[in-house]
Amino acid sequence: MDHPAGPEIPPWKIPEEWNQALQSIEISTQHSWEMLENARMLARDVKQDLMEISALIEGLANQTCPVCDDICCTRATVWFDFRDLLFIYLNFGRFPVSQITRGLNGACSCLSPTGCTLERLHRPFLCTWYCCPDQIRVMAGEGPGARPAFEALLAGIKANRIAMEAEFIAALR
Ligand code: SF4
Ligand code: SF4
Repeated sequence: MDHPAGPEIPPWKIPEEWNQALQSIEISTQHSWEMLENARMLARDVKQDLMEISALIEGLANQTCPVCDDICCTRATVWFDFRDLLFIYLNFGRFPVSQITRGLNGACSCLSPTGCTLERLHRPFLCTWYCCPDQIRVMAGEGPGARPAFEALLAGIKANRIAMEAEFIAALR
């Protein structure tokens, strides 16, 4: 739902709005499953690429996060957007339990003492494409091709997420 002054960020903070958003995707999807083949195919492509990039991210995280003294999730403002919800629903047939919020201490509500409580493919895409300066330095040490390869994968995922949303909307017209 758009805020009068523009899109509300993060969207669907109120449980009623969150439930309405999920319900509208669920109902639209149930009535148009066949027509959503292109959107579902793109969602699968995004999943493949996310699995590939996740392996790279895990490698970077293993080298940087355990010794980090300024954990990004304690101050990040992240949320599920419409493409995240579509991606998760079209691939896994379910939705996240709730919109992400910030706790009283300002940290992401999904952050636990042992790290993120969400599986990587079930996190907002925002969390995947963020690469901190330490990780960029590690990537630079992996050779000149490492960062362009990472960026190319990210660009492909972004493009397919946009196309997935466009196909979803087109199928429901
Ligand atoms: S991604 Fe970077 S900033 Fe975030 S916890 Fe890991 S090392 Fe720290
Ligand atoms: S969803 Fe997980 S990875 Fe993303 S900011 Fe929250 S705790 Fe960090």
